Amino acid sequence: MPYNQSRRDFLQKLSGGLGVTIASLTVPAAMATSATSRVRDTKKLGVALVGLGSYAKNQLAVALEKTSNCYLAAIVTGTPAKAEEWSKKYNLDKKNIYNYQNFDEIAKNKDVDIVYVVLPNSMHREYVIRAAKAGKHVMCEKPMSTSVKDAQDMIKACQDAGVQLGIGYRMHFEPFTKEAIRLSREKIIGDVRFLQTNFGFTIGDPNQWRLKKALAGGGPLMDVGIYCVQASRYITGEEPLSVTAQYGPITDKDVFKDVEQSLSWQLLFPGNATANGFTSYRSNIEQLYVSATKGWIQMGPAYSYGPIKGSTNAGPMNQPVVHHQTVMLEEICKSFLETKKFPAHITGEEGLRDMKILMSIYEAADTGKKISLV
Ligand code: NAD
Repeated sequence: MPYNQSRRDFLQKLSGGLGVTIASLTVPAAMATSATSRVRDTKKLGVALVGLGSYAKNQLAVALEKTSNCYLAAIVTGTPAKAEEWSKKYNLDKKNIYNYQNFDEIAKNKDVDIVYVVLPNSMHREYVIRAAKAGKHVMCEKPMSTSVKDAQDMIKACQDAGVQLGIGYRMHFEPFTKEAIRLSREKIIGDVRFLQTNFGFTIGDPNQWRLKKALAGGGPLMDVGIYCVQASRYITGEEPLSVTAQYGPITDKDVFKDVEQSLSWQLLFPGNATANGFTSYRSNIEQLYVSATKGWIQMGPAYSYGPIKGSTNAGPMNQPVVHHQTVMLEEICKSFLETKKFPAHITGEEGLRDMKILMSIYEAADTGKKISLV
């Protein structure tokens, strides 16, 4: 079974089957693609997707059909067959279809307001910087980069060009997650003392880029462990002081030649909370547990496409189930249209903070030492 299929199946299984069926929901008539070529709607921001892989196709493009304030205006792909397929499906003008060589010409394209980079991790740097130089605002998928230096270069390029940079941290817009943040930060459950954050899945195709360090930057920590690091930070509202970490055993030496199979880590926060994290490409696991002085929060599924489920010491969380990418894009564009800025909690600086922690987790696991983060 191809990797993306097996990963989708896993995410769908975790989510009770709703995660991808959302693609078949009815699109409001006003938002539906017309039979003729798309006319530029000045109230909607035009988004160009760079890289038409699984996430772009099955989540972001689906979301861009549902959003009221942004739409798919252009694509960037190295595969002519995909260009053909997408241009038909989304009625894209020929002038709005780019490849990786002529991508920089997007600077002249007034239909495009935001370039959304959805490529393998190590390619984020180049395409974010090229998009910034083209004068476009940029969204970039997680993890922001494969090194702290790359993340800093990306932030600088966007600052120099005077464009916004956002990271696709969809959980910040997800209702169960927002409620967990509120309960923790407003201390409704008291002072947070301990978090257990786990995210792992069984990876498929052994030849995919996620298993190549040069493209992925690392293994499951870069791919899904980042959600656990994010959760530790958004629940406590604090930056960790230090980290210790340990690699798990490698049971499949042929597959895990280049990246870790699993990893555990411990973050210490200034308010005295400890966050234990675990990530793996060989364990199907997805949970967030928050223990506080007056209560607790338990979420699982906690990070996949949903439906997210959760309860607290007071009972079920009862939050609406949403399509994560739709609410994310809607909120980001709303913020931009109102303030000319992306929301503060998804900026490049947020991505950089995570990159510093991810790299310190690797350093702690490599050296066996406690690494200071201050
Ligand atoms: P994918 O393998 O399905 O797609 C990658 C795309 O990049 C393909 O279109 C491929 O043709 C293109 N590509 C260009 N050069 C390539 C190269 N040298 N090697 C491999 N592919 C190349 O991957 P994906 O799952 O869509 O992930 C893309 C990005 O999106 C990653 O950064 C990933 O972390 C992120 N992502 C985020 C979420 C989320 O929930 N936020 C979910 C999945 C993926």
